[in-house]
Amino acid sequence: MPDDPPLLEARSLVKHYKVGAFAGRLRAPVKAVDGVDLTLKQGSTLGLVGESGCGKSTLARLLMALDRPTSGTVRVEGRDLLGLSSAELRRRRRDIQLVMQDPYTSLDPRMTALEIVREPLDIHRDLMPKQDRATRARELLEMVGLDPGHAHRHPHQFSGGQRQRLGIARALALRPKILVCDEPVSALDVSVQAQVINLLKELQREFGLSYVFIAHDLAVVRHVADEVAVMYLGRIVEHGDRDTVYSRPAHAYTRALLSAVPDPDPRRRNTTGRIVLQGDPPSPTRPPTGCAFHTRCWKSQEICAGQRPEPAATRADVLRQVSCHFPEN
Ligand code: ADP
Ligand code: MG
Repeated sequence: MPDDPPLLEARSLVKHYKVGAFAGRLRAPVKAVDGVDLTLKQGSTLGLVGESGCGKSTLARLLMALDRPTSGTVRVEGRDLLGLSSAELRRRRRDIQLVMQDPYTSLDPRMTALEIVREPLDIHRDLMPKQDRATRARELLEMVGLDPGHAHRHPHQFSGGQRQRLGIARALALRPKILVCDEPVSALDVSVQAQVINLLKELQREFGLSYVFIAHDLAVVRHVADEVAVMYLGRIVEHGDRDTVYSRPAHAYTRALLSAVPDPDPRRRNTTGRIVLQGDPPSPTRPPTGCAFHTRCWKSQEICAGQRPEPAATRADVLRQVSCHFPEN
């Protein structure tokens, strides 16, 4: 029997933003996402990591068909999202829900917790008769560890962690298969981060959910991801299973990001040393030629500026892909 198509798959995905003319001349587009391939497996978590501005949120919007790619495809269970009729797209959108970073801005302050969680059911009103929706909303609140007795509170009456739980309950209302979590814990204190991450893991086990989990640092992703993709200036520079990427990073950029993460194993702590990257990432309007990381890479040689490295397996691990002329491991 042929394998089932992957749950979610992006191929050669590109999003260039045209930002209008300046002084009568057309400006170069912002290359927010510039050729991304990725696959999300059923029941697993793909961690997507990279500095602010590297294109993570743009990629998230493309995966959810909230934005049209400049080119490339997104398939959900083998179906190309771009080819769907609007009714089919509406149906498909229920399967993929977004959890955003900042529940302060993503939750309507005038609505109660119950209304916030019930709203998706009111919008997709063919799913459930009206009288059942409030019951389901209360169940959802309980499912994410909120007190259903607080159903009539407004967002500002909850803590940051509770608001994020509310955002998760809302995202789960339509029984999605996939959650795209865009920096879901970046605005929270470390102790609260752990609670929200544990909740996401429990929900995943209980409902067989699959996650794309976005973060700007590798520390958070270590606790959730099965696979990790590292993004730099609109491209994935390294991708592999979590343990491989964390224990034997092959791309210099991954090494630099990892060197900023405290190692949980005290025997390894401080043996590798911190790599401090020079300068900010270059502008995605004019990414460097060749390997986009070469302007900040301590291993850079002539070929790095002249030729873009294509993703390739490393010798030690055929499943790990790295885009570098001089990979480690
Ligand atoms: P991240 O989520 O990794 O911080 P984003 O996807 O938000 O990155 O942004 C990637 C790049 O695209 C940034 O340079 C950002 O300024 C630019 N960008 C994002 N959205 C738009 C837009 N709607 N129009 C123009 N540029 C955008
Ligand atoms: Mg973002």
